[in-house]
Amino acid sequence: MSNLVAIVGRPNVGKSTLFNRLLERREAIVDSVSGVTRDRHYGKSDWNGVEFTVIDTGGYEINTEDIFQGEISKQVQLAIDEATSVIFMLNVQEGLTDTDYEIFEKLRRANKKVYVTINKVDSSRDELPATEFYQLGIDKYYTLSSATGSGTGELLDDLVNDFPTNEYKDPFEDLPKITIAGRPNVGKSTLTNALLDAERNIVTDIAGTTRDSIKTLYNKFGHEFVLVDTAGMRRKAKVSEDLEFYSVMRAVRSIEYSDVVIIMIDASQGWESQDMNIFGLAQKNRKGVVILVNKWDLVEDKQTNTMKDYEAKIKDKIGYFTDIPVLFISALNKQRILKAVEVAMAVYEVRKKKIKTSKLNEIMLPIFEKTPPPALKGKYVKIKYCVQLPTPSPQFVFFCNLPQYVKEAYKRFTENQLRKQFGFTGVPIEIYFRQK
Ligand code: GDP
Ligand code: GDP
Repeated sequence: MSNLVAIVGRPNVGKSTLFNRLLERREAIVDSVSGVTRDRHYGKSDWNGVEFTVIDTGGYEINTEDIFQGEISKQVQLAIDEATSVIFMLNVQEGLTDTDYEIFEKLRRANKKVYVTINKVDSSRDELPATEFYQLGIDKYYTLSSATGSGTGELLDDLVNDFPTNEYKDPFEDLPKITIAGRPNVGKSTLTNALLDAERNIVTDIAGTTRDSIKTLYNKFGHEFVLVDTAGMRRKAKVSEDLEFYSVMRAVRSIEYSDVVIIMIDASQGWESQDMNIFGLAQKNRKGVVILVNKWDLVEDKQTNTMKDYEAKIKDKIGYFTDIPVLFISALNKQRILKAVEVAMAVYEVRKKKIKTSKLNEIMLPIFEKTPPPALKGKYVKIKYCVQLPTPSPQFVFFCNLPQYVKEAYKRFTENQLRKQFGFTGVPIEIYFRQK
């Protein structure tokens, strides 16, 4: 899991300006996630080759008189819960305020690495006034100008040098990692608890094995896997839980860490845009996907085709990657929950599957011969050879004479053929056409 840097401070000190500067060279990674990208509050950056994720905790509505109780305490809590490191930003033009003291006190108690950073130091003239901030009782601060970028280098040097994960070894490295994602109240915790209850004796709860996420090892009938950030395990009522942003961010990070994403929906609600966002993220990160339609017990008047119709409705909405298992369960009644686990594990295996080059060519080349890419401007594309890359999820390269003439429709055709011939249910496939 990547290092997470939170930028915390009063409004107007320059948090977003620094955030945007850090992201400048990289697109926001979650541009399809509602509420996040719109405001670009979450994105990836890197320094000296070390990647990290930045959250700009600011930018929320301030809907309370007492600014500290409202927006800022949420920010601070978020930073404390989630971040590896905190950039605590101050404004030299306004000097040190009571709110600054309050924020700093909270951060200090949280035992996180805090980088006190004084912004709007636009010229050396501002260095002297900045010394006022030693009153916080600190030995070191950073001065910078977010607007021009000066001073950011020194801050980032120290920041990435101090990242703990450089030596961090994931104790679950080789185990399948599954996350159960979905909107609130769809039944994620119920499923988690049902799985755990069933296994009371053999489950090991491992809390806080990394700085900031909870993973549960699950072991039964030869299935061993890690449930990532399982909802049922974290009942810490936090102010920040009402932040959509907060939950989106957790979901993003859990998905990044997982191999398979279980997207759970409530049968009575159907597939909505937020589910689409989760799905988009999983797909973009090339994770396996299983869709669980929960609370099936509440669906009345079930007919022979009810499931089929329901599944078709979902697949209508999700675009072209529809080769995905859809299961109908009742977490409450523990109906088909082990089946759900089995299917998720099957998707995990499929995602790792490697097709031998000889087999791949033997099967795919005749298909291409029979149905070649349509000629373009009188030119014919000849696909000569293909390989699967040694990547964690299936990616294939097709070598041909004129890759630029292979259009999207033909890539889809190729993907569908791969699925049909080799079976990649639940797993996004990446296809490249290259010059040979
Ligand atoms: P946030 O509310 O903490 O996210 O603050 P913003 O990033 O929105 O910045 C607030 C204001 O301060 C904007 O008008 C910025 O242009 C300005 N600002 C940000 N960084 C600097 C800086 O380094 N120097 C100066 N002079 N102004 C800055
Ligand atoms: P989460 O927010 O996604 O973790 O959802 P919860 O697991 O807390 O469940 C929300 C509500 O839905 C609770 O009242 C559960 O008892 C209920 N619920 C969960 N699964 C089922 C189910 O399969 N059938 C029915 N009828 N209710 C369920």
